[in-house]
Amino acid sequence: MSGVRRAIVIGLSMLGVGVSATRDFEDGEPPPSWKAGTATVVITPERPLTLLGYTDRKGPFEGVADDLSARALALEDAQGRRAVLVAADLVAFQSAIVTDAVTRRIAERTGLGRERLIFNASHTHTGPVVSLDPNLKLNVAHPDMTPEQAEATIAYTRRLQDQLVDLVERALASLRPAKLSWAAGRTKVPTSRRLPKSGGVVMVPNPAASVDDAVPVLRVDSPEGKPLAVAFGCSCHAVAAGTRNVISADYPGYARRVVEERHPGATALFLAGCGGDANPEPRGTIEAARSHGEALGGEVCRVLDGPLAPVVGPLQVAYAQIDLPLQHLSREQIEGYRDRPNFQAWQARHMLAVLDAGERLPTRYTAPVAVWRLGESLTLAALPGEPVAEYATLLRQALGPDGLWISGYNNDCFGYLPTAKVVAEGGHEAIGVTLWAWSRNLGAMVGFFEPRVQDVVVEAVRRLADETRAGVK
Ligand SMILES: [Zn+2]
Repeated sequence: MSGVRRAIVIGLSMLGVGVSATRDFEDGEPPPSWKAGTATVVITPERPLTLLGYTDRKGPFEGVADDLSARALALEDAQGRRAVLVAADLVAFQSAIVTDAVTRRIAERTGLGRERLIFNASHTHTGPVVSLDPNLKLNVAHPDMTPEQAEATIAYTRRLQDQLVDLVERALASLRPAKLSWAAGRTKVPTSRRLPKSGGVVMVPNPAASVDDAVPVLRVDSPEGKPLAVAFGCSCHAVAAGTRNVISADYPGYARRVVEERHPGATALFLAGCGGDANPEPRGTIEAARSHGEALGGEVCRVLDGPLAPVVGPLQVAYAQIDLPLQHLSREQIEGYRDRPNFQAWQARHMLAVLDAGERLPTRYTAPVAVWRLGESLTLAALPGEPVAEYATLLRQALGPDGLWISGYNNDCFGYLPTAKVVAEGGHEAIGVTLWAWSRNLGAMVGFFEPRVQDVVVEAVRRLADETRAGVK
């Protein structure tokens, strides 16, 4: 295809005319209209810290099975619009602890606004507690953490903030001409963990229930066609390594390793998806993490070798803080949850403790949602929290399935993001906002979401996607 025809296709698509650049570019090679830059940093704690993800581990971690890292992919389109994607081996990014401070510092140093930064946590459960709370209350989340360990955690968190600011700056400094393309594969790594029983939903493998099995893959090449970066996703908890008290990036780290060994010089980034209600099975050992990672990495490599749709830009971003509604419950209603066969009972005890302390329960939680549109062929929807798999289905219905990458665990994490069905059924993924349980200096942030949280999220993504189509930013 000629450059002239290509320009017409892009121009029409910017006007909202339904032209598919993907189809029109099938036979042609787009010019390197992008610039891309990458950076990586090891974020393995230098001294033993308390890990986050299970309540029954005792003391700081006892070893390092494999390193944790954070990786950044900076993009700049032909018009000079920039954005940076950061993917890190952490349980979660929380606004109040990491991303608020880090995005502010990045804006000061680079001029890049918050809407142009996505921080995605792999949700590895063999990663450290990240906190700035000197009085980490050593409730169920950190039962035996000493004041010295809390200080060590704070020092780690401050260093992590510095590392993330530096990482983004280095990725931007390394921008060079690049070509982008993308495609999606499929994976069997996620298995649903929601099984309805007579007393309520329990957390055990349920292969009959649906998961999001998509493996979105973004390939970033040099003008000569050599991979510079590969970003890929999977909608599944990074818990294959189990409850061992060691550091590991879990299956995402092993998957990245497969991709980087097959494509030397490329930086691989893992983005967690709508895996709030999915686990890898079997699990419980580092070997399981390696096995699931190799399966996922193999699928990513297969996709990289196959036909990919060119991604031509332009880059349009939209971002909003949205109010996620929480249920108003009386003390009697909350007490009714105390004998549930799942973590809703645990959560109800926290809600009652907040009331006993004379505090009010919140009526909403405000969280960020972002949509990045990379031209006609790829739109990235970045949800906060731990979205359950049904969000992938709902958003594909709302936005159309083509060229859509739906990720979770972005920018802020407060606990699970349930759909109306999950709220109605109850169970572990219906425990709502859990911040109070992890660190009481984040306020009395505890409560079950209302069913309409689903509509709020889907509408927000639809509106932001419309904004990117209109070229607002
Ligand atoms: Zn989780």
